[in-house]
Parts: sequence; C-alpha cells; structure tokens
Amino acid sequence: MEPPLKPNESDCCNSGCNPCILDVYEDQLKKYLNQEPNRSHATNCISETAYTTFRLVGIEAHAQNTFIYTFEHINASNNLHLFYKPGQHFLIKAPRNGTYFTRAYTPIPTEKINHLTFTILIKLYKDGAMSNFFRKLKANDDTLWRGPYGDYNINYNLGHMLLIAQGTGIAPLYAIIHKIIQNENCETFLHLFLCCKKEDDIPLRNELYRLSSYWNFSYEIFLSQATDVKCKYNETVHIFRLSSNNIKSYFNNISVDNNQILICGSEMFNKDISQAVLDCNVDSTKIVPF
Ligand SMILES: Cc1cc2nc3c(=O)[nH]c(=O)nc-3n(C[C@H](O)[C@H](O)[C@H](O)COP(=O)(O)OP(=O)(O)OC[C@H]3O[C@@H](n4cnc5c(N)ncnc54)[C@H](O)[C@@H]3O)c2cc1C
Repeated sequence: MEPPLKPNESDCCNSGCNPCILDVYEDQLKKYLNQEPNRSHATNCISETAYTTFRLVGIEAHAQNTFIYTFEHINASNNLHLFYKPGQHFLIKAPRNGTYFTRAYTPIPTEKINHLTFTILIKLYKDGAMSNFFRKLKANDDTLWRGPYGDYNINYNLGHMLLIAQGTGIAPLYAIIHKIIQNENCETFLHLFLCCKKEDDIPLRNELYRLSSYWNFSYEIFLSQATDVKCKYNETVHIFRLSSNNIKSYFNNISVDNNQILICGSEMFNKDISQAVLDCNVDSTKIVPF
C-alpha cells in the first residue's frame, strides 16, 4: 500500500460531506501506518540472538512511578521493520559491576512514530536494578535490546476471552486486546479484570476507557488499597481486591466452552488466579499465564 496523498485543507468544503475528504485521508493514513509489511521484503530490525541498539526518543510520566518510554532503531532504512506479535516481550541489557544483566519488557501499541520504534510501560521500583538504570536514561541515550520472545498466538475464533492483569502485567494483555478489537471480522467478547493497589497506580486507564467504546470490550478495575475513587462515566472501579467470587460470577454468565483466560501478574498472582479459574470448572488448557 502506498502512502495516501494528503489533501489540502481547502479541499474540505465544510458542508458535512459524507465521507469528508480529510476523514478519508486520516483513515487511509492510519491503515498505511498500521499495515503489516510483507516480511519477505523487510528484515526485522531486532534479533533474538544478538543485541541491537535502540535510541531513547521519549519519556512520559504515566501513573504512580510508571513511565512510558519510546525507543527507536538507530539505522533508518526502508528494508528494516520492527516485527513482533502482540504479547511478546524484549530483553534489555544494562551494565552492572563490570558485567551485564537483563530484564524483560513488553511493547504496547501506541500511535506509531514510524516502523522502527517501540513503546514500553515501565514501573520503576525503589532499589530495582533496571529501574535505576531507566531512571538515569536521558533522551538520545542508546540502549541494547534483543527479542522478540513469547509464543502466544491470538485465536480470533473464540466466543469469550477473560483477561486478568496485575499492575503493569496489563502490558501484554493490552497489546492483545488492542489487536483483537482492530479485527473487524473477530466476534470474540473480551472482558478485563485489572488489579491495582490505588487509583494513582492504574496503568493505561485512559487507553482502556477509549477501547471500551468498542462493542466487544469491557473492563473492571479492582483497587485493593483504596477507600475512595473517582470513576469516569460508565467505568466500573471496585474498591476491594478481586476475589474468587468475582471470577465465579463471570463464569455464571457465560459458557465455559470456546473461551480462553489470559493471566499476567506476579508468580503468586498467576498461581492464585489460575486456581480460582480452575475452581470454576474451566479446563486447564484454556488458561494462559504470561
Ligand atoms: C516476560 C516479562 C515481561 C515484563 N514486562 C514488563 C513491562 O512491560 N513493564 C514493566 O514495568 N515490567 C515488566 N516486567 C518486569 C521487569 O522485567 C522487571 O522485573 C521489573 O522492571 C523490575 O526490575 P528491576 O531490575 O528494576 O528490579 P529488581 O532489581 O529485579 O528487584 C529489586 C526490588 O524491586 C522491587 N520489585 C521488583 N519487581 C517488583 C514487582 N513486580 N512488584 C513489587 N516490587 C518489585 C522489589 O523490592 C525487589 O526486591 C516483565 C517481566 C517479564 C518476566
């Protein structure tokens, strides 16, 4: 697909044409930027077996101690493209005491700057080794990444999908939700349970709110340490911890056939939530922990 020709502002006659020439251009530009390039004509600019330099091009404060970092491959070339599947992660390597260490981070969908950038949502922990490395990074600093890793493939033929995330565990699940709802032929109903401590900790809240305007996506947020919360219009935020009863209620209302349950949080969270799902007579093959 070729990039669309940009109309002049004066090409719009402001009389409410349907479709408006400017809307058509915006729509085509979005399709052009989001198209999957032909892998036979482009090389992946990130590798699973060697580190590649990506430059930090943006840092944005997001939620409590949580930031959005954007990185860009340093060699602009038409033959290169950043390929990865929704839910996959990359590894970053950083120096420590004369050697190196790595941590995993999951790219999330955003408005693309170009085909060689990726964006991650990072919670910085006090005394965290990679957190300290990220705290010191400045715009235009170079960083080393490899990937993508993770072998989850989206099944677009499911009836229902329940996604359960803890904090920044939302990253892979958000990427998957985003991909599914962009597919106009997919009729899967998606429901997300997002577990956080307090209102300030909620990651991707505005992004999830926007996605909830799609007919097949809904979400509930559970705050385990809040006493009060300001909800947006039609937003469901509970000021209690997600319990096995909430999971039971979900399965009371839908069939346990033809569905899948994705879970992403700490090891303990994944174990407890998987057990709560199994207690609802869901087959273990339908549970996918990240
Ligand atoms: C596949 C995968 C994908 C991931 N994707 C993301 C992502 O997209 N965004 C993201 O922010 N993180 C992600 N993580 C977690 C990330 O890899 C690091 O573990 C995290 O950033 C902490 O690293 P650190 O070196 O700063 O802390 P470490 O040096 O490993 O830990 C030091 C201290 O930090 C605190 N700490 C570290 N992790 C946690 C935690 N989860 N909860 C509470 N306290 C903690 C503890 O006090 C801990 O003792 C992912 C992990 C995996 C395995």
